Amino acid sequence: MGITACFPGDTDAARTLREQMVMDQLERRGVRDARVLEAFRRLPRHLFCSEGTPIDSAYADRPLGIGCGQTISQPLMVAEMTVQLRLKDTDRVLEIGTGSGYQAAVLALLVAEVHTVERIGCLAEQAQARFRQLGFDHVHVHVGDGTCGWPDAAPYDAIVVTAAAPDLPEPLRQQLADGGRLAIPVGPRHVQDLVVWERQGNAFNRHEWGGCRFVPLIGRHGWPD
Ligand code: SAM
Repeated sequence: MGITACFPGDTDAARTLREQMVMDQLERRGVRDARVLEAFRRLPRHLFCSEGTPIDSAYADRPLGIGCGQTISQPLMVAEMTVQLRLKDTDRVLEIGTGSGYQAAVLALLVAEVHTVERIGCLAEQAQARFRQLGFDHVHVHVGDGTCGWPDAAPYDAIVVTAAAPDLPEPLRQQLADGGRLAIPVGPRHVQDLVVWERQGNAFNRHEWGGCRFVPLIGRHGWPD
């Protein structure tokens, strides 16, 4: 994958906070996937937070503001969504809602290629700069309405949507490969269920993971602006 074992900008203090985050927030709450836990141990979450964020807040058990009214999701939610995708290292993945770039970077530690779409240009630019600095050459950032997916690189082995939709956008369903998994928060504006779809030929099996709360997915197949 060509990603260094130790990232520039990482520190011993951050590594200690990260270990604590993995033990207290993830393992203790039932996250068992060893590859996912290792990705959380390696990735410096503080480098994805807004400038001036105290380092202990970067590893706290909650979402954080990243500007433009958007958030970097709570570590547990990022981990659970990632686990639900059951990723293999050869997979190609689409993320909708780049935000800080943290979820895309977690994915990038686990798969061969990541495409991520963000509707707010300045967030996409900041995330792109982080990927460049950390050596994530196999993450491709696109600016646009992610409710339409990213057809140019479809189909995808997994799709994850990190903003909440009224329902599953049809283009995303179409861009999922046979055997693929798709995780998306679905429901009313202020509280949703994390829904996971699995494609078997033309059949889409649906199961609900549990309650969650995300910012709205705004676009043609999502909520109006
Ligand atoms: N995955 C992000 C991270 O790791 O920091 C967190 C994402 S934040 C909870 C949701 C993001 O979805 C916001 O950055 C928001 O601008 C973006 N978003 C909302 N509607 C979108 C759309 N139609 N297409 C692409 N991005 C969208």
